[in-house]
Amino acid sequence: MSAVRKPITPKPAREREKVLVILEEQCKECGLCVEFCPKNVLCFDMSKYNRKGYHPVTACDIDACVNCEFCERICPDMAIFLAKKEDARKAYGAGAMEENTAIPEFDRESKEEN
Ligand code: SF4
Ligand code: SF4
Repeated sequence: MSAVRKPITPKPAREREKVLVILEEQCKECGLCVEFCPKNVLCFDMSKYNRKGYHPVTACDIDACVNCEFCERICPDMAIFLAKKEDARKAYGAGAMEENTAIPEFDRESKEEN
């Protein structure tokens, strides 16, 4: 065994093809997606209420998302899904989204720009 340790090369950032979209008004805080996300990406935004009086789900660690779509499959209310990044960016840029739709990746980018 060599006494010289190999340098640790950091992996390049993963480029995801899809972005997470959350329809906050449709979320009923059931917690299924939070429980089943294999990467612990999701949590509840306790500072916010939707019109039904629920705390909508949000992304606490969007960088950990692996686009597995478990959340989309398990949500009984179709409140969370993945969309092609390109298409979502166009809709986001044009403001052509349903009211209270969150795209955590883009929301963060626009916060950083401001
Ligand atoms: S796509 Fe997979 S990793 Fe990403 S938030 Fe949904 S369940 Fe979690
Ligand atoms: S997004 Fe869907 S699965 Fe997740 S907490 Fe809201 S209603 Fe439940």
